[in-house]
Amino acid sequence: MSDPGVQASLHKNLKTTLPRINNYINSTRFREVNLVDRLYPDSASVELSHWALPGGSGAWEQWTFNTIVTQTFTPVSVGSSYGPTWTTHWFRLVFSIPDEWVGSEVRLRWASNSEAAVWSESGQLLQGLSTGTSYMYRPDYTLTTNHQLGQTGPYTLYVEMAANRLFGASGDGDNISPPSPDLYFTLSRAEIARVDQQVYKLTRDLEVLYQLADKLVDLGDQRGYQALYTANQMVNSIIAGQDSVASSLADEYFSKGNGSRAHTLAVMGNCHIDSAWLWPYTETKRKVARSFSSQLALMDRYPEHIFVASQAQQWQWCKQYFPELWTRVKERVTEGRFIPVGGTWVEMDGNIPSGESFIRQFLLGQKFYQKELGITCKEFWLPDTFGYSAQIPALMNHMGLKRFLTQKMSWSLVNKFPHHNFTWEGLDGSTVLAHFPPGDSYVMSVTVEEAVRTERNLQDKGRASTSAFLFGYGDGGGGPTQDMLERTRRLADTDGCPKATLMTPDQLFTQLESDEHNFCRWVGELYLELHNGTYTTHADMKRLCRRAELELRDAELLLSQAIVVLGVTGVAQLLQESQVALEEAWQNVLLNQFHDVLPGSCIGMVYPEAQTMYQQAIQAANTVRDNAAAAIFGSSGEVTDILVNTLPWPRVEVVTVGGNPTLVSVPSMGTALPDSQTPSSQVTLTEVDGTFVIENGLIRAEIDSYGRVTSLRVIGDDADHDVFQRPPGTTSGEQLFGNQIVMYDDEPLYYDAWDVMDYHLETPVVLNDADSGYSVSSPVVVENTPLLCSVRWGVTFGSSTFTQDIQLTADCPHLTFLTSVSWGENRKIIKALHSTSLYTNIASFDIQFGHLERPTHMNTSWDSARYEVCGHKWADLSEPDWGVAVLNDCKYGWMARGHTLALSLLRSPKAPDDTADMGNHTFKYALLPHQGTLQEAGVVQRAYEFNAPILTIQAPPDRGLESWVRVLGQGVLLHTVKPAEDGSGAVILRMYECNGTRSKVTLALEWPVTSVKECNGLEEAGVDVPFVQDAGTTSINLAFTPFSIKALRLTLQ
Ligand SMILES: [Zn+2]
Repeated sequence: MSDPGVQASLHKNLKTTLPRINNYINSTRFREVNLVDRLYPDSASVELSHWALPGGSGAWEQWTFNTIVTQTFTPVSVGSSYGPTWTTHWFRLVFSIPDEWVGSEVRLRWASNSEAAVWSESGQLLQGLSTGTSYMYRPDYTLTTNHQLGQTGPYTLYVEMAANRLFGASGDGDNISPPSPDLYFTLSRAEIARVDQQVYKLTRDLEVLYQLADKLVDLGDQRGYQALYTANQMVNSIIAGQDSVASSLADEYFSKGNGSRAHTLAVMGNCHIDSAWLWPYTETKRKVARSFSSQLALMDRYPEHIFVASQAQQWQWCKQYFPELWTRVKERVTEGRFIPVGGTWVEMDGNIPSGESFIRQFLLGQKFYQKELGITCKEFWLPDTFGYSAQIPALMNHMGLKRFLTQKMSWSLVNKFPHHNFTWEGLDGSTVLAHFPPGDSYVMSVTVEEAVRTERNLQDKGRASTSAFLFGYGDGGGGPTQDMLERTRRLADTDGCPKATLMTPDQLFTQLESDEHNFCRWVGELYLELHNGTYTTHADMKRLCRRAELELRDAELLLSQAIVVLGVTGVAQLLQESQVALEEAWQNVLLNQFHDVLPGSCIGMVYPEAQTMYQQAIQAANTVRDNAAAAIFGSSGEVTDILVNTLPWPRVEVVTVGGNPTLVSVPSMGTALPDSQTPSSQVTLTEVDGTFVIENGLIRAEIDSYGRVTSLRVIGDDADHDVFQRPPGTTSGEQLFGNQIVMYDDEPLYYDAWDVMDYHLETPVVLNDADSGYSVSSPVVVENTPLLCSVRWGVTFGSSTFTQDIQLTADCPHLTFLTSVSWGENRKIIKALHSTSLYTNIASFDIQFGHLERPTHMNTSWDSARYEVCGHKWADLSEPDWGVAVLNDCKYGWMARGHTLALSLLRSPKAPDDTADMGNHTFKYALLPHQGTLQEAGVVQRAYEFNAPILTIQAPPDRGLESWVRVLGQGVLLHTVKPAEDGSGAVILRMYECNGTRSKVTLALEWPVTSVKECNGLEEAGVDVPFVQDAGTTSINLAFTPFSIKALRLTLQ
C-alpha cells in the first residue's frame, strides 16, 4: 500500500528521483540553493592568537593548562599553517555572539586538518575536534543550543591542536607509510556560526530516507519506494517554502514500526583506540581525552547514548593526565552510560602473550576497574586482534568470564567464518559464548546500508534475535557523532530496517544467552587467515616479551619464598615495595603486548619506547629477585655463587661457573652449590671429510660443510629413527637436511608489517647449499671439551650476515643453534627449515598453558590457509614412538608442511616502520630428537629449560642444597608461584595440565601452610583443598583434566 498523504513522483524514473534526493543534501554543487548552505545561515569571526608549545612528540605532558594560558600568544589568522609533525599548538579564541542569534544554536566551526581539542577558559577539556583534507569527522563544537539575550560575551576558548592526523602523519597519503617528520597543517576555518535546527533535522531526515530508498529499492523492497516518495515530496515541500510540512512527512514515515520479529541491533557507541600504532603512546593519551570528552558532550544532549571503552590502561591515562575529565567520566560510569568493557589492561595480541600474561591482562585490568570504578567487566572484548589462541576459553573461565566479542575473523582471506554467534570450546573443553558483530566492523556510522548488511550477513539467521552494532569513529579514536545518534533515533523502529536500540554489552549478552541453545559449537583456535607475518615482525618485541615474562616469573617465585623464610609479618615491607615494583613492571609488559606493538605493526618511533619499558620491567624483576634472594639467603659476610632452579623439577645441566662450563645438579624449585657433576658421557666432536660428528651419549648429530644437519638421532633408539636419514629400503629422492637457512621473497599484497602471503613459499632460496651462490664459511671447531663442543659456520648474503654456533653439551638431549644475524634485507623472510624423515599428518605447537595439533597437509582450504602459524617455545613432529621437536628462545612463527618443520627467524617489512628488524639479532633454537611421544620425552619441560636458565645468585656459602617446592607425578606444570595481589602475604600457585592427559600429582611444599583454597585468576578464594603436613612438608593431592588450569591460594604462617 502507499502511504496516505504521500504523493509519488510524477515520473516512474528512479534514475532521476533517487539522485535528486542525495543532491539536495549532499551536493558539492547547487549547495547555495539546496539545504547545505542553509545549515549555517550566519557566521561571525573569532579573534585568534597562537602559542607554539616548545618541543615535539610528548612535550605536552610537561605543561599544565594554567601555565599554558599565561604564555605569550601571538595574533594569527585563518590560512596560516602549523607544524612540524607531532608538535602542539595552542590557540586562544575570543568572540562575541551576536544578539540577533537569540534563540538559536551556535557552534564553533574549526578545521585545522588535524586532531584538536576545545578547552574552556577555566581549563575544562570540552570536546575533541577532528578534521582532515578529505574528512570532517568532528568539525564543530556546540557553544549553546539556545542563545539568550544578554549572553553576548565576549567569550574565550582555547583549542589545542596536535600536528598529526587521526591516522598519524604519513607523508604520501597512504596511511601505513612511515610518518613524515615535517608536515604542516593549515588552519582553514575558525569561526562561530548560527545553526538552523530545522534545516539540520530535515537534512538528517532526508539522509536516512535516501539511504532507505537507495538500499531497499535495490533489494526490490517496496518500502524503499515509500521512503523515496516521502523524501521526494519533502524536497518539493521545502522548495515551496514549507519546511514544517516536510518535517511532518518524515516524522510520519519514521513512526511506522517494525513487526515483533524484526531483528534488533544492539547499538553501542565505541571508539577503538589503538594504544599505539601510526602514532606513539603519548598521542594516544590525548586521543583518549579527546574521545572521552566528545562522548560526555554528546551524553549531555542525548540521554539514550551508551558508550563503551576498553583497555584499563587508557582509563588510567585519563585519570593520570586529565583528572578533571576523569571526574566527569566517572559520573557517567555511575549512571551506567559510560561503560568499561573487556576487563583487560590493553587489547592485547591474541597469539603471542604467554598464558600467565593473558591472566595478568585481566587481573590488572579488572583490579583497576574494581578499584577506580567499582566495576568488574563481564566480557572479554577484543575486536581487532590478529587471531585467537585455542586456550582463550580456558583462560577466560579461569578469570570468571563467559562472554567474548570480536569481529576480526571477518578479515580472513580464504574462508568465511561460519558463525557470528557460537559456543567456543577451548583446548581443555571449557566454553564461552562468542559473538562477532555481523556487520564485520567496529567503526559503523549508523547507515541503513550498515544496518541491513548486519542483518543480511548474519550467519545465524533464525537462531539469534540480536546482534551487536558498534558505531563511532575508531582505530584512531573519536567515537560517535551527533549525526550518528540522530540517525540511530530515526532507525529505532522503522519498517524495512532492523531495530536500532542503544544497549549495554550486558543487555546484549543477556539476549544472546537466551538464544544460546540455538548456537553451534566451534572447537579450538580462531585462526585469522591474514596478518600471520606478525608472529615474526619486530623480533625485538618478541624477544623482550618472552624475556620479561620469564624474569617476572622468577622474581615472583623468589619473592614468595621470601615470605616463607621471613614469615608474613617479617616480609611486610619487602613485600609491599616489591609488589609495587612488580605491578609497574607487569603494566609495562602488558601495555607493550598491545595488538600493534607486540605484533610489530607500529611506526618506528613506538619501538625505542617499548624497548625501554620492557627493559625497565626486566630490570625491576631482577631487582625484586635479588632483594628476595638477599632475604632468603642473607647477604652479610662472605658470599659465593648459589644456583637457583626456578622450574618445578630437578635439572642437571652445563652452566658457566667462573667462566668455565660446569655440569651442575639443582633440585626442583630450589638451590644448590655449583658443585661439578660427572657427566654420564663425555661430549665428543670428530671430523671426517668435512662432516662433523658430535655426540654426548644421549644424541648423535652429523653436520655438513654448509652447517646443515644430515643425521640426528637418539643414541640407543632404533637405527631407523634418524631425523634426517630415510630408513633403508625406502625411496631415495632428495637428501633430507636439518638447519637449512632459507630466504623467501616477502612482498605482501598491502599490509607490509602484518602479512606474509601464501605465495612467498614459491620463492625459496636455500642460503647454505652448494647452489646458493652465497659465500658460506664451513664449520670450524670453536669448543671441544668433555662438557661442551661447538662448531661455527656462517653465510653472507645480500646486505646480511648469518653466523651460527652449533653446540652440544653434556647430558643435554638437544643440539643448540646459537645464532647471530646482521640483517639488512628488504621484503625478505628467512626461516630455519628442517626437512625430516618423519611420517605424520600433524604437528604439535606450544601455546598458552598447553599445546595444540594442526594438520601438516593442505587437504581443505582451512588447512591450506594455515601455512604460517603461531607457536611458542616449541613445535614437534612425531610418529607414535619417536619424533623431533624444535625449541626456541624468542620466536613465534612456524610452518609445518608434510615432513618439514620451519621456524621463521626474521622479516624485513618497510611499512609502517621502514627500519623494522634492521640490524643485529641474537637468538637460539634447538633440535630435540626423541624416543616415544613428546609427552614421554618431556618436550614441554625441555623447552622451559631452554628458556629459563638456572640462575646464579650471590649468597653466603652455608646455604646449599634445598628444594622449596616439588611436584610428584607427571603431567602437571606448576607455572606460577606469586604473592597474592592483595598484599596479604598469601601465595598463589597456578598450574596447568601440560600433556593433554588426565593427571594426578602431589604438590610437596617445604612451607608452613595454614590453609589451602582453590581460587580463580582474580585470586578470589573458593573451596577448601585438603592438605597433609608431615615433618615440615605440606602435601596437596590434585587431579587435572587435559590442559585444565587450576590455581590455589595458600595462607602461610
Ligand atoms: Zn586496533
